[in-house]
Amino acid sequence: MELACLDLEGVLIPEIWIAFAEKTGIEELKATTRDIPDYDVLMKQRLRILDENGLKLPDIQAVIAELEPLEGAKEFTDWLRERFQLVILSDTFYEFAAPLMKQLGYPTLLCHKLEVDDEGRITDYTLRQRDPKRQSVRAFQLLNYRVIAAGDSYNDTTMLAQAESGILFHAPDNVIAEFPQFPAVHSYEDLKDEFLKASNRNLTK
Ligand SMILES: [Mg+2]
Repeated sequence: MELACLDLEGVLIPEIWIAFAEKTGIEELKATTRDIPDYDVLMKQRLRILDENGLKLPDIQAVIAELEPLEGAKEFTDWLRERFQLVILSDTFYEFAAPLMKQLGYPTLLCHKLEVDDEGRITDYTLRQRDPKRQSVRAFQLLNYRVIAAGDSYNDTTMLAQAESGILFHAPDNVIAEFPQFPAVHSYEDLKDEFLKASNRNLTK
């Protein structure tokens, strides 16, 4: 039995915080884990900036709803779901991803959740567990699934290593150079080919 695991941001949809920063013109929100490696410090800063700008969850969701999946992403997920069970493993939050998941036809998503008060203000967040992508793959393997995983960045590499096959998609050059053990592709057509190669079934395109 085979399962496909995909990262979300950078693979199927744009980076939500960066796209949100561009839509709202709030430059400070463009900081990522490359600028502030401690995710907790980064998230606290993001929530403070949202507060300072009076942005509540419904305002943020309205902006995110104007974003679109990457070109070809919907067709690719449809293709993949005809051939594999698909689970998306992401470090985003359900409340942010929801408008984009709708456009992708609501594939299964495992990610984190926000804490929101009665007025819609985001007060905190809950990470599902530590190293959640790798732990999810481990759990699927305990259920006797072979896992083929694809992602674009550092936070995917433990998932790719844990999977029976790991594929880099849209990854920056430094990640590709640091993890030469993973095939690296840049188009959905090539990603389909990598999934077919990694499969132990006789699938066709
Ligand atoms: Mg990503």
